[in-house]
Amino acid sequence: MKILVPVKRVIDYNVKVRVKADQTGVELANVKMAMNPFDEIAVEEAMRLKEAGIATEVIAVSCGTTACQEQLRTALALGADRAILVETDAAQAECLQSLAVAKLLKAVCDKEQPGLVLLGKQAIDDDANQTGQMLAALMGWPQATFASKVVLADGRATVTREIDGGLETLSMKLPAVVTTDLRLNEPRYATLPNIMKAKKKPMDVLKPAELGVDIVPRLTTQKVVEPAKRQAGVKVADVAELVAKLKNEAKVIA
Ligand code: AMP
Repeated sequence: MKILVPVKRVIDYNVKVRVKADQTGVELANVKMAMNPFDEIAVEEAMRLKEAGIATEVIAVSCGTTACQEQLRTALALGADRAILVETDAAQAECLQSLAVAKLLKAVCDKEQPGLVLLGKQAIDDDANQTGQMLAALMGWPQATFASKVVLADGRATVTREIDGGLETLSMKLPAVVTTDLRLNEPRYATLPNIMKAKKKPMDVLKPAELGVDIVPRLTTQKVVEPAKRQAGVKVADVAELVAKLKNEAKVIA
């Protein structure tokens, strides 16, 4: 069974994100980029399924500019067998929305016929949390989001999901879409020999037009602003002063 793992190139989670002066988006020039952390978890899970003899091939796919090859090479160094870049130009990449990505991934699924698509539950840049759900709908496949455990057997996936106040276990027929949550696994690091080997692994480059997909954005961004600055706190001398302030100034107690 083939597993398809979509990986997104995002701003590294350690970077303090800055809004562009013209409020059209966030600053990407000279910013450290990385694979979306939830996608690292998806790659790790796919590798574990391959090592267990359940998956036969793991294919990483990324949609965006040619720079996404960096994240695809990382997926290959972590063990993926081959990669697909669905290449756009920089202007298209800047406004590539979830629906467009889901349509591109559908076209790749139609071509590759994977038994499972393992995505991150959300990309840490836009926090959209919708590509996996949209892909499942477009494919007409079952989906299990926020997975903390995935077991594949007898043509079915049994997925434990983290929900408010507990865990839910779903069983669904393959092919299916699963999105990863933080506690699914702890991703491995790429070793130097595997980074070297990854350079020789195959990477196909496709264009959205070749896949017959229209990626024109359906939403427009009105403006992007920094979160409001937090006001400085004040020191109080004792509990009596604190209670008085809570009562008379903050008015949160009677
Ligand atoms: P989102 O719905 O944007 O929060 O993203 C959820 C997941 O969809 C990510 O963790 C990736 O697995 C996948 N994804 C989103 N955008 C892309 C992209 N441009 N290329 C490849 N995968 C993507």
